[in-house]
Amino acid sequence: MCLFVETHYSNCKHTCFELYIFCRELLHQLNRINDPDQQRDYDLPFDPGCPTCQPYTITMRPATLCPDVGYLSVISESNIVHQMMDLVENCPDCKAKGQ
Ligand SMILES: [Zn+2]
Ligand SMILES: [Zn+2]
Repeated sequence: MCLFVETHYSNCKHTCFELYIFCRELLHQLNRINDPDQQRDYDLPFDPGCPTCQPYTITMRPATLCPDVGYLSVISESNIVHQMMDLVENCPDCKAKGQ
């Protein structure tokens, strides 16, 4: 599974994800892109077909919610390793558009 860093840009209210560590599956796909035989035989772009190669967060509540445990019983899983807040800059997309 790939890991991501998430940045919130408060100026333009956009959120961007940066790849932090990519997994073997994605590395394999990148190697295919650099392989002339693979390029000839298959369509680009290659899709690793792996949902955890996209930034994701899963939040679940157990079916039986115990009032004593409440909020603490929420199970959450994510491949976002770090969240940052940028209060000054616009996101790279908006910068590219010159906004
Ligand atoms: Zn991956
Ligand atoms: Zn933006």
